[in-house]
Amino acid sequence: MEANKLDRSRTINSKLVVVIPIYQEGSHIKQSIGRIEEILVKHQIRHEFVLVDDGSKDNSWQQLEELASVNSHITALRLSRNFGKESAICAGLEYADGDMVLVMDADLQHPPELIPQMVEAWLEGYDVVEGVKSSRGKENPIYRSLANLFYFIIRKTSDVDLDKASDYKLMDRKVIEAWRKMPERAVFFRGMSVWVGFNRKQISFDVADRTSGESKWSFIRLVRLAINAITSYTSLPLHLITLLGSIMFLGGLILGIQTLFMKFSGRATDGFTTVILLLLLIGSSIMISLGIIGIYLAKIYKEVKARPRYLVASCIKGGEKQC
Ligand code: UDP
Ligand code: MG
Repeated sequence: MEANKLDRSRTINSKLVVVIPIYQEGSHIKQSIGRIEEILVKHQIRHEFVLVDDGSKDNSWQQLEELASVNSHITALRLSRNFGKESAICAGLEYADGDMVLVMDADLQHPPELIPQMVEAWLEGYDVVEGVKSSRGKENPIYRSLANLFYFIIRKTSDVDLDKASDYKLMDRKVIEAWRKMPERAVFFRGMSVWVGFNRKQISFDVADRTSGESKWSFIRLVRLAINAITSYTSLPLHLITLLGSIMFLGGLILGIQTLFMKFSGRATDGFTTVILLLLLIGSSIMISLGIIGIYLAKIYKEVKARPRYLVASCIKGGEKQC
């Protein structure tokens, strides 16, 4: 889509808010922020930071307190516990009041050198400037194949193509406002920021190695994220159950007719193997189906409870403790 190049409200003086979710990044967070700010200052981009400590157990919060007490451009939030990256991003977006908002990781895997280019694209009139991974950096081949499977399912079942998408995104204020109107409790930033639409531009980048520390994504966490993402975007698995049921009904009908025919023609055999096989097949299909329904049910339950996505324990703004 052609960007609106005549948007005069976008000027060099517009404010960029950088939102960074932080979990156990105490060892290098100061250097990371320093590096990002250096680039912003060099390119004269008016900026603020919203740093969200997602309940880290290391010294991340002390580091953020120190940063926020000397740098009035920094708002630091501490969530009451570890709510997960998605909720941390959510908190950051709700506190960000810039003309544009950029979401990036704390470990410099999202290269800050790209920011001036992203701001440039925003000035041209694009509403969402997304960083797409041209390579995925070092990754375990098993993870890679599972990730491919996940993207395949998402692509086939919804209109959203998430392969190569990253959380590294610059968004216009109106996109953030659209985001704020989305009421769901279970957030999936990458998908939701695609769903909202608007004028989009992609800029590709190479995923750098982590500055230091370790990735927080355990296998179980990734599987949970994948299930959440898929069930948030499509109800196809539920319809597949109906399809499966119909196919089995058809099979049952044919087998039933055959059995009756055998019985009445006096040729009924033991048929024990068939019975066991059928029982196993039907039993497992029912269990899987119940499981799928259960996942959606649990999601509905969570949404109905409507608990807050995160809780803020403390926040520092303009060098002072505000809450
Ligand atoms: N993160 C977070 N809460 C969590 C896990 C991660 O806020 O529960 C943050 C983390 O500090 C980092 C970003 O999310 O800024 C990406 O995390 P990580 O680098 O561990 O993920 P990866 O790059 O391996 O996908
Ligand atoms: Mg990382």
